[in-house]
Amino acid sequence: MKDSYGRNINYMRVSVTDRCDLKCSYCISEDRKFKEDILSFDEIINICREAAKLGISKIKITGGEPLLREDVSCLIKELRSVEGIESVTLTTNGVLLEKYAEDIYNAGTDSVNISLDCLDRDIYKKITGCDCLEKVLGGIDAAYDLNIPIKINTVLLKGINDSMDTMLLAKNRNIDVRFIELMPIGEGKKFEPMLNNKSLMIKRQYKRGNGPAVYYSLEGYKGSIGFISPLSSKFCAKCNRIRLTPEGFLKGCLCYDEGIDLKSTKDIGAAIEKVIKSKPKEHCFENTEMITEKKDMNEIGG
Ligand code: SAM
Repeated sequence: MKDSYGRNINYMRVSVTDRCDLKCSYCISEDRKFKEDILSFDEIINICREAAKLGISKIKITGGEPLLREDVSCLIKELRSVEGIESVTLTTNGVLLEKYAEDIYNAGTDSVNISLDCLDRDIYKKITGCDCLEKVLGGIDAAYDLNIPIKINTVLLKGINDSMDTMLLAKNRNIDVRFIELMPIGEGKKFEPMLNNKSLMIKRQYKRGNGPAVYYSLEGYKGSIGFISPLSSKFCAKCNRIRLTPEGFLKGCLCYDEGIDLKSTKDIGAAIEKVIKSKPKEHCFENTEMITEKKDMNEIGG
């Protein structure tokens, strides 16, 4: 359905847990406390069914780390059969991907985003707090071998991973690598000033394009390189998404804490409609004191 600014809202990010096996410094706080009272898979399926009736056709399973939730592939399989849902995709840090690649493939997962910020073992460990780069690379191989379409998402942190070495993953295989601007949400606020995709593109003499991810092909590379620039190239006018947190809070915009707790709502369809209708016109990341969202990204799902 359309929101009050005429945008067609057809995409819902569904976070199935706030737990994560990594401790990325810009995403999750040191003193994190994980939620106990999260939605069951049946509750998630019910919400997605109601959302599909209102025109949500794409679901992204996120977290925390969604593969930490046992049987997430069963959830994907169920969602894949909900009338109106045309694609179910997953975003993962890749640590458990090698273990579960076949399950999520068999469940009908349409594509997988793998979040990986660098290919250097020490820098990876510095960012994530975990020495498991090899596991992630094994996960990428496993998904690639199963022909699951893969996109790598890299968040750039100034002075830490700005060599952009994950770009190399696009060289020999048909894998797209996207560079995402760090957003001032939760722990992300502590990193400043972030790398700005606009300046990167100018520095590297890339052309500009339209749309959330702007892709470029590089000579000698099989995959494409993309830039997602919510700050330097705001794309709110084309935003098509809503976000469901693990405890069942439905949000219209990443930036604000407004939304509806679906767990304590009798008429879920009407509540989803209300969130879509009151979706804010745009984020206010450029004006950080106006950001009302206090949660960390692991509690929202990115
Ligand atoms: N664990 C899964 C993963 O790694 O894809 C899903 C959850 S994670 C919160 C989703 C994405 O949000 C990751 O790509 C992560 O890098 C990104 N992210 C976290 N904090 C961010 C921030 N402040 N700005 C931009 N992206 C952020």
